Amino acid sequence: MTARNRRRRRATQPRTPLGLPEYDFGCALEGLLTRRQLRAKELRPGGYPPVAVLRCRRCTLHPMRACTHHALLYREDLAKPKLPMTLAKERALDRAMEARQRCPLCRRRFFFCLPLRTLGSCVPCHDGIPADPSTYLREAAHELAA
Ligand SMILES: [Zn+2]
Ligand SMILES: [Zn+2]
Repeated sequence: MTARNRRRRRATQPRTPLGLPEYDFGCALEGLLTRRQLRAKELRPGGYPPVAVLRCRRCTLHPMRACTHHALLYREDLAKPKLPMTLAKERALDRAMEARQRCPLCRRRFFFCLPLRTLGSCVPCHDGIPADPSTYLREAAHELAA
C-alpha cells in the first residue's frame, strides 16, 4: 500500500462525534445526499433523520479537527418527491384546522371547530355523553397515537 493510499483510508474513516458517521468532503458513500443535493433532484428528506455527516472542504486536511460547517446527509432511496407548493400550503392549512377541530381529551377530530376556548374539549367530553360517530373522523389507530 502506498503512503497516499494509507492517508486516504485514514481520512475516509468515519468519526462519530454527533452520533453519526462522518465523511470527508468528496468521500461520502454513494446514495447519501445533502439537503441541497436532494433539492436539486426535486427530492426532500421525507421524514427520515439524517444518517451521516459530511465535513466541509476545508476540514479535509485536518482530520482531527471538529468540523463546524458540516452538512447532514440523507439517504436518497428514502427521499420523497418535493411537495408542490399548493400541496404544501394545503397541508399547513389542514394542520391549522386540525388544531381547532381535534379534542385534546379524546383526540377525536370533529368535522367542525370545537369550543376549545370555553370548554377546552369537545362537547361530548365536557358533558360526559358519547359522541355521535357521524360528527368525527374515523381514523386508523396508528394515526391517533401520533
Ligand atoms: Zn469543517
Ligand atoms: Zn373529546
